[in-house]
Amino acid sequence: AAAAAVVVHRKTKKSGRWVKAMEILKEFEEKCGTPIPKLKQVADAMIVEMHAGLASEGGSKLKMLISYVDHLPTGREKGLFYALDLGGTNFRMLRVQLGGKGRGIVNQQFEEVSIPPSLMTGSSDALFDYIAAELAKFVAQEGSDFKQSPGRQRELGFTFSFPVMQSSIASGTLLRWTKGFSIDDMVGQDVVAELAKAMERQGIDMRIAALVNDTVGTLAGGRYNNKILGTGSNAAYVERAHAIPKWHGLLPKSGEMVINMEWGNFRSSHLPLPDYDHALDTESLNPGEQIYEKVIAGMYLGEIVRRVLCRMTEEAAFFGDTVPPKLKEPFILGTPIMSAMHQDTSPDLKVVASNLKDILEISNTSLKMRKVIVELCNIVATRGARLSAAGLLGILKKMGRDTIKGGEKQKTVIAMDGGLYEHYTEYRECLENTLNELIGEEVSRTIEIEHSNDGSGIGAALLAASHSQYLEMDES
Ligand code: BGC
Ligand code: MG
Repeated sequence: AAAAAVVVHRKTKKSGRWVKAMEILKEFEEKCGTPIPKLKQVADAMIVEMHAGLASEGGSKLKMLISYVDHLPTGREKGLFYALDLGGTNFRMLRVQLGGKGRGIVNQQFEEVSIPPSLMTGSSDALFDYIAAELAKFVAQEGSDFKQSPGRQRELGFTFSFPVMQSSIASGTLLRWTKGFSIDDMVGQDVVAELAKAMERQGIDMRIAALVNDTVGTLAGGRYNNKILGTGSNAAYVERAHAIPKWHGLLPKSGEMVINMEWGNFRSSHLPLPDYDHALDTESLNPGEQIYEKVIAGMYLGEIVRRVLCRMTEEAAFFGDTVPPKLKEPFILGTPIMSAMHQDTSPDLKVVASNLKDILEISNTSLKMRKVIVELCNIVATRGARLSAAGLLGILKKMGRDTIKGGEKQKTVIAMDGGLYEHYTEYRECLENTLNELIGEEVSRTIEIEHSNDGSGIGAALLAASHSQYLEMDES
């Protein structure tokens, strides 16, 4: 009888833990809720901030940065151009041969190099020397299938995907780092000057003709409105110059200016942010900043899942009495792993089991537990995707593209780039469905979402071409 009593006791203890774990999950789910009216509030708050950011420098958390891109490439650009795309864990180098009017890109090559993590938090010189050395190798491999007119200096478009206050198309100072980069001596420096110095140290003879954010590059590459959803998140769009009170320069011929919103730094009381998000923010490299990014972008989604699992284990022994050591490691659960677990279609959730084992060194999970983990991934991804859709609604509204005017059928294309959008199908579909729900069926037929693969690098090369010192020659 004594033995039986012990068993019963253990069982109640176990089911008590399960109940507690499910309570934690339920509470998290409730706090992450994004009903349609809330999403509309988020969109409207975004529009308010857009206006404030356009009105004056520092007027809003949304920087609404002027890109100095006031006309998009025409397709008539001609010549050989390079691009360097820096902004995540990798950087890309491209060379592109532009054939001129009617011919477009006739030849291109690229190379991708990963950035050693230590360089992401080291010194400016170390980072740029590394990049310039790789670039020098890439330039040296230029084959005879690329043609440059004799005596002509090579030109480069530099995609630098961090908040930069530009002072011209080819200069600008770094406002702050995001996404795991933190190099103090770079902040406030002209990023073009830093790159140019490093290129000189490597003996590369090349002029940096354009400095662009990845969103602006993508826009130029696809000539569309666009948005990036990868490690970080941001959006750029074409604004009427008249609607930018803080712009005191000449009115561009086009009457337009591309705005780099830096929307990752958006925040609003309407964003559903349970404690987990606050803790993540406080312990991040950039506390208090990029709050919207921290709930929608690839660098953070898996980390949020990890934090909830940690709490479920600490307070409800979800994985047993002790917290598995790996589970305590920040950022160990990357979003690609989360996505694989979330989208596990095997009946016994094999993929979840193997990732738990390989990444977190947790084995012997029950199917019931694995289902809970899938559910948790779903909550985090759904919130991110829906809030992301709300931001897009804000931009569409600001541009007047959320209604159909007088029967006019103007098409709006939204180009999306980034691994999160590309590879996380559940996220992508949720985003698209939510946007359709928000704008309604009729308008949604006028809006097309496209995946723009590596538009940011090509776009930078095109912008280098359209800002080339040899422009006259190219466009004739
Ligand atoms: C940066 C943006 C960038 C985005 C996507 C954000 O963290 O602040 O400049 O466009 O990531 O790469
Ligand atoms: Mg990119």
